[in-house]
Amino acid sequence: MNNLVIGVDIGGTRTKSGLVNIATGEVIHSIVQPTEKKYATVFIQQIGVVIDQFRELAAEKGNSIAGIGMGIPGFTGEDGEVITTYGFLEFMENYPVKRIIEKEFSLPCFIDNDARVVGLGEALYGKGKGYKRVLTLTLGTGVGFGFVVNGCFTEPLPLQHMGGHIKITDTGERCYCGKTGCLEALVSSAGILNIARNTDNLQELLSAEAVFEAASKGNYDARNAVAQIIEYLHTAIHNYINLFAPDMVVLGGGIAKGLAPYIERIKGDAYLSPYPNYSFQLAVSELEELAGMLGSAALFQLSQDITIDNE
Ligand SMILES: [Zn+2]
Repeated sequence: MNNLVIGVDIGGTRTKSGLVNIATGEVIHSIVQPTEKKYATVFIQQIGVVIDQFRELAAEKGNSIAGIGMGIPGFTGEDGEVITTYGFLEFMENYPVKRIIEKEFSLPCFIDNDARVVGLGEALYGKGKGYKRVLTLTLGTGVGFGFVVNGCFTEPLPLQHMGGHIKITDTGERCYCGKTGCLEALVSSAGILNIARNTDNLQELLSAEAVFEAASKGNYDARNAVAQIIEYLHTAIHNYINLFAPDMVVLGGGIAKGLAPYIERIKGDAYLSPYPNYSFQLAVSELEELAGMLGSAALFQLSQDITIDNE
């Protein structure tokens, strides 16, 4: 079988494309381009550049590209169309990505929601490897949600992709969705910064990373802010446990690294277990940025109904 698949991870400012060996989870080569938000023609041109370069690379090894998978920041349909990106990518409203790419480049194309794709990457190649029920939370500009069972999605559509909007508290910043106290508004990069800036002494901090750094250096207010964030995450994870009973929870995204020293505290004690002797592991992603490209490429594998060796 030809295992070379292109995985495309469309991010807020950068789009990362990887030439992936889906059998081994190796990203052989990657290309970073600015994310095109306005024009479909530019987007297709950029994809064309990626496909041309990767086809050349594959040909040098006497191989070819089997397909292309994409993680889309929005809601995707069953027929490979983007229903909406909620205005993030202007041209991608009811946009038939699969049909256009397959026609233009004669390459099988598969798409899905970006956070679900990151979850697939973590489940197949990352910290979720070897676990049956893997929940991945991607903490960055928002909170992405991806749930994978036995290396597959549990539903054809990414219906859980708003899972970051579970309500955790009655206080805190108002989320853009209209509610107050959404997980997404509390432990995203902006949310963490807001929590820190609510104290008098942390007004100068500019990023969530800076909050974690100040806490690690013993700053009293930063430590309190981090304690608050830990509590929110603990509550959220245990809410998800009641619904999904994951045996591995992976924390990914730009903020996750800062949480690594607190993993046992975030895990904490269970409120309720879904079944007797239930246990779960909590880990920070080691794939980091690669998870999106790997998971996107693995969409091809799902479509082939081939099981990746997940032991
Ligand atoms: Zn919300």
